[in-house]
Amino acid sequence: MDYYVKDISLAEKGKKAVEISLMDMPGLEELARLYEDKKPLNGIKITGCVIVTYETAAFILLLKKLGADLRWCSDNKYASLDDACAFVASKGIPIFATSELTDEKYEWCFEQAAKFKDKNGNTVWPDITIDDGCDITRFLHEKYPEAYETILGTCEQTTCGVNAHYNLKGEKRLNTAVINVNESVTKSKFDNIYGSRESLIEGLQSSINLQIGGKKTVIYGYGEVGKGCAKVLRGLGANVHIVEIDPIIAMQAYMEGFSVVNRNEAAEIGEIFVTATGCVKTVAREDLQKMNDGAVLMNMGHGNMEIDTDYLLRSREHIVEKISDNLQKITLSPDKRLYLLAEGYLVNLVGGDGHPPRVMSITYTNHILAILDLLGNKGKYKKGEIYRLPRELDEKAARLNFPGISGKLTILTDEQEKYLGVKKTGPYKREDYRY
Ligand code: NAD
Repeated sequence: MDYYVKDISLAEKGKKAVEISLMDMPGLEELARLYEDKKPLNGIKITGCVIVTYETAAFILLLKKLGADLRWCSDNKYASLDDACAFVASKGIPIFATSELTDEKYEWCFEQAAKFKDKNGNTVWPDITIDDGCDITRFLHEKYPEAYETILGTCEQTTCGVNAHYNLKGEKRLNTAVINVNESVTKSKFDNIYGSRESLIEGLQSSINLQIGGKKTVIYGYGEVGKGCAKVLRGLGANVHIVEIDPIIAMQAYMEGFSVVNRNEAAEIGEIFVTATGCVKTVAREDLQKMNDGAVLMNMGHGNMEIDTDYLLRSREHIVEKISDNLQKITLSPDKRLYLLAEGYLVNLVGGDGHPPRVMSITYTNHILAILDLLGNKGKYKKGEIYRLPRELDEKAARLNFPGISGKLTILTDEQEKYLGVKKTGPYKREDYRY
């Protein structure tokens, strides 16, 4: 058995759920139509390290349809869906992920997913890795640097992972070519914003049944994820306050009509707190101590490090009670109880099923276009460098995920094409256009 899942008998349940997701993943369907017969990934070994949701399972199966030889693990210890994992395993794809992994098992899963075998049973390394947080890159850089003798490149999915790859580059340790899929416009301006706008609420309300309307909420970080969270909370009638470090972003929040407050004020005002910064201890001990009785805290950013859960959950003076799977009550003193969702991990993934299919279809379309570009233009992607996808491919991801759009778009006339200096067929914006 070349897989590790919680219960393989969940495969049928997972299959049905993946079929429902595929109803709104037009990009993946279209890529299958374009490339299934050509099998452009034939013989290409891919290690994926991305949380396994129904949408990820659909992506994994498409990679296989295109010919890839796959091994998969999750960047997230707690939130992979067991039925999705079982379905993937039932298709003969080596996958090593469950909804609950210990630290040791988590690392063991990375090990299994990273190591392929050749005909003689010797370990060989993947040609390409797919990462969500720089986790498999870090693992291989630290434990098996020799893997990079053959790895062609990696596709990185998320903001904090891109930052971590830049840190490795800054330390002159980055040993692979990286395609920063996160900063494709069709990724971060869609998945991070519109995905979060919907999945925050699913995760929040499945963890605690709480009226949002009228509540004083604080969002730390008004980047892409923060913007999505702010939009939905305001839409539900919350009174939204923003904490930021960046004056440009803070001014965006102000212009949108949100109140920008400093960290001290925020802790005293808020009833619901959402972190979305990618920064360690965004909500630290001193903030937690200032919060009002009954405050509810959750994280939409990275790992479980944005809220100081070490202090909250492990301080000897605190009483921690598990109210339900994703809700903990922490009594700091007789008149101060705080409520933590999903133990400070991503509330939308641990408390809910993650972003909806359409935005994930766009994200995974970007990965596939990135892999095809990496394989088709080997000289272009150099070790130690980080690249964004060319604008043409970003525009292609939009066309693939917006069925019928080509018939609805206005086409430039010859005169307009000449006047703007933009081709009728695109790309329509300069590389530095900010959308
Ligand atoms: P971003 O860079 O666009 O936004 C982060 C914002 O936080 C920035 O505006 C920054 O100025 C601000 N910030 C940083 N440190 C801060 C601090 N200590 N206090 C207040 N503000 C601070 O990034 P993003 O794309 O919005 O992503 C944010 C995080 O969410 C990343 O860790 C990313 O990996 C993660 N993410 C999560 C999901 C999800 O499904 N939950 C989806 C996409 C991205």
